[in-house]
Amino acid sequence: MPQTIQASTLRPQIAAIIAGTGSTPAEAEQVAANLVLANLSGHDSHGVGMVPRYVDAAAEGGLQPNASVKVNLDTGPMLALDGQRGYGQVVGVQAMEMAISRAKQHGTCVLSLANTHHLGRIGHFAEMATAQGLVSMHFVNVLSRPVVAPWGGGDGRFGTNPCCIGIPLQGEAPFVLDYATSRVAQGKMRVAHNKGERVPPGYLIDEHGAPTDDPGVVVVPQSNGLFGALMTFGEHKGYGMAVACELLGGALTGSGTWHRPADNARTVLNGMLAIVIDPAKLGTQAAFEQEARAFVDWLRQSPPGQGFEGVMIAGEPERRARAAREREGIWIDDATWGEIVAAGAKVGVDVR
Ligand code: NAD
Repeated sequence: MPQTIQASTLRPQIAAIIAGTGSTPAEAEQVAANLVLANLSGHDSHGVGMVPRYVDAAAEGGLQPNASVKVNLDTGPMLALDGQRGYGQVVGVQAMEMAISRAKQHGTCVLSLANTHHLGRIGHFAEMATAQGLVSMHFVNVLSRPVVAPWGGGDGRFGTNPCCIGIPLQGEAPFVLDYATSRVAQGKMRVAHNKGERVPPGYLIDEHGAPTDDPGVVVVPQSNGLFGALMTFGEHKGYGMAVACELLGGALTGSGTWHRPADNARTVLNGMLAIVIDPAKLGTQAAFEQEARAFVDWLRQSPPGQGFEGVMIAGEPERRARAAREREGIWIDDATWGEIVAAGAKVGVDVR
């Protein structure tokens, strides 16, 4: 049944299913906490609704519970890691902890992280850096069904390739820009499809390359057995950013780019190139703090545009959602909850 559920109730239920895939209790709790935090942050597409996919990916052998990052290169400011198909919520955190400590020592760290299972909400990693006063930039590719069409193309050729920039702000919460380069995240189409909703024009093309408002075209195979595709945001500009994420997150990391027809695998692999910078080591800390703050204050002084309450800074919507959902609970629709219950049953865990 659809339900509003408190984060504290949801976490152990999700952890039990993740443990059912073979994870240690500590790993299962870490993955569950990350997924529930994504729901709390307003990104249901990267929350507990991913669990059925993870259960199937572990059964397929594409997701390896209890993996740790393997160090391929560590010169201090250059760090090349292999996620060994581990839970991204775990190996991604390990990788960022290493990159943060090297950036603090050397002023910067270029982190190449290949071959991790789904990293979830990329903003999580930027928040780790900003919490330590560091700037971080993330370019990520997705090896899964190619669900996004190139600008000018008529079918899906790559994934939703997210891009993220975290910037600490003196005396207030950080700027955390974190988005899929598709017009919307694929998971949001799954959520919309499960709710029986239509989506605005400009988001999708169908299996024939024609515009459509039916999110089902990227969720279930269509009449000819093919899927439709998501459009990139910002027309040719978002398309270019998506390609940059593939080239940096997939090619430069050695993780691999997508260049083959779609398959039915449930495994989702991410490659991530991250650049972490310590402003204190760059010698601009005082100006950075002052100028960043002055600019953000200036933005906020803009009078509300028609239909808006006022200007927000990236990261703010997620923090507002967290405050509201911590209080009011997380709403999970019928179809998503049914899929989670079924995933639990596959690994012998009874959630209700
Ligand atoms: P989105 O379209 O909701 O955009 C989110 C970004 O825009 C955030 O930085 C948010 O703070 C900012 N924002 C939203 N409204 C704003 C406003 N009114 N004013 C100022 N800033 C505003 O996000 P999305 O594209 O749906 O992506 C959702 C999540 O999916 C992200 O966390 C992303 O990392 C994740 N993702 C992960 C993968 C993967 O393979 N791991 C793939 C794609 C997306």
